[in-house]
Amino acid sequence: MRVISAEILEVELDLREPTDLPFEAGQWVSVPFGPKNVRAYSIASTPRSSRHITLCADVAPGGIGSAWFRGLTVGQDIGFKAPFGGFLFRRDDSRRPLFVAEEIGIVPIRSMLADLDETGFDLRGALVYWGRDQSWLPYHEELLALARRSPGLAYHPVVPSASIADLTAAVGAHAGDARDLVAYVSGGGAMIDAVREVLMAGGLDRKSVRWEKFW
Ligand SMILES: Cc1cc2nc3c(=O)[nH]c(=O)nc-3n(C[C@H](O)[C@H](O)[C@H](O)COP(=O)(O)OP(=O)(O)OC[C@H]3O[C@@H](n4cnc5c(N)ncnc54)[C@H](O)[C@@H]3O)c2cc1C
Repeated sequence: MRVISAEILEVELDLREPTDLPFEAGQWVSVPFGPKNVRAYSIASTPRSSRHITLCADVAPGGIGSAWFRGLTVGQDIGFKAPFGGFLFRRDDSRRPLFVAEEIGIVPIRSMLADLDETGFDLRGALVYWGRDQSWLPYHEELLALARRSPGLAYHPVVPSASIADLTAAVGAHAGDARDLVAYVSGGGAMIDAVREVLMAGGLDRKSVRWEKFW
């Protein structure tokens, strides 16, 4: 267990049965808590390490998912189903990507960007990353380093503020020409709606805003 900040924890899971999990960057695992009760966790690591996967959680919500995550111990056996989800980066889409993440919503985007980087894909576009303060921006240092060595990728962390309006202002400022844009947005539903609204007001069509809603 790695403590990223007071309420953000990261764990690495070794796969035993099966020993390998083929997945695509951006997908998630489903952890069961009784019939019809599950919690989803996006895979933070990349498909190149398919014998072990990394999960990262904000445990502040404090429900069963958070309690489970907080209580994970070394060597514990856990069961989950995977992979799920269609929040995937499309390499054949030649438009400029705009990634937008709210706090823990960075997890699938971190996997996508790391995957693109590891496979030598020409990283370009922008990442706007919003959190109430820097301790709510997991992977911030890693993303800074990635942007430093990827001249085509602009990184815009947006702190400190608790207002979605600051995020949408940053999105508006860094979106550029909507005719050449595709957006990947991940986090809470209110943020996704606000970002979609700003981008559509700038001329982007609804389908060009891809999203993963965590809560
Ligand atoms: C596709 C998908 C991928 C997800 N990936 C991740 C992930 O990688 N990491 C992660 O931490 N969570 C992720 N989540 C959210 C996760 O499934 C749980 O909802 C979360 O851990 C809270 O569970 P809980 O049982 O502790 O709280 P719950 O009892 O389920 O939730 C309590 C309340 O908190 C809200 N809430 C949940 N998460 C947050 C949050 N981060 N910030 C503010 N409010 C929140 C809920 O909507 C609810 O109102 C994902 C959700 C989905 C649908």
